[in-house]
Amino acid sequence: MHERPGESVEVLVSAAAIQARVAELGQQISQDFGGKPLLLVGILRGAFVFLADLIRAIDIPLAVDFMAISSYGASTRSSGVVRILKDLDEQVHDKHLIVVEDIVDTGLTLNYIYHQLANRGAASVAICTLLDKSARRLVEVRLNYVGFHIPDQFVVGYGLDFDECYRNLPDVCRLTRGEEA
Ligand code: 5GP
Repeated sequence: MHERPGESVEVLVSAAAIQARVAELGQQISQDFGGKPLLLVGILRGAFVFLADLIRAIDIPLAVDFMAISSYGASTRSSGVVRILKDLDEQVHDKHLIVVEDIVDTGLTLNYIYHQLANRGAASVAICTLLDKSARRLVEVRLNYVGFHIPDQFVVGYGLDFDECYRNLPDVCRLTRGEEA
């Protein structure tokens, strides 16, 4: 049983659908970046499961690095506050970067990361997100690769958490709390 008392989860995107889409994204990225020095930048912690599957669906040489950004904590609402908690270890100069994110909601986090990285001399900066929740977008962000467009619901699983729980669910699930659960 994955659920905690007072919470319930319902599958929104199945593990099988995720695997099929990740394979497509991997193929597309392999075609787009063949022959170029490629660095995938995973945004911790939510993107680590997606990144782990995505790199195995890419069949060209690549390097991996991570950034950690302040996030929602135990609240389901965006604080709008973006802070780098862990920066890259790799040099980005003249490399083609793909920022790998779990979900884009308001866009504030990725907007900040994109501008940070674009100013460091990378050859290019692209964005790959598993989920796009565009209904709540506050700033426009150019998303080069999107796994799934989802409605305005709070989701967990496949790396995404609520209060550090549910990252180990194999599917992306809608989380319901309180009396609805
Ligand atoms: P943004 O800055 O685009 O509003 O927020 C992006 C970050 O908010 C994501 O990386 C993720 O950490 C968190 N987030 C946004 N929506 C959800 C959601 O539905 N579920 C979870 N678990 N995190 C979310």
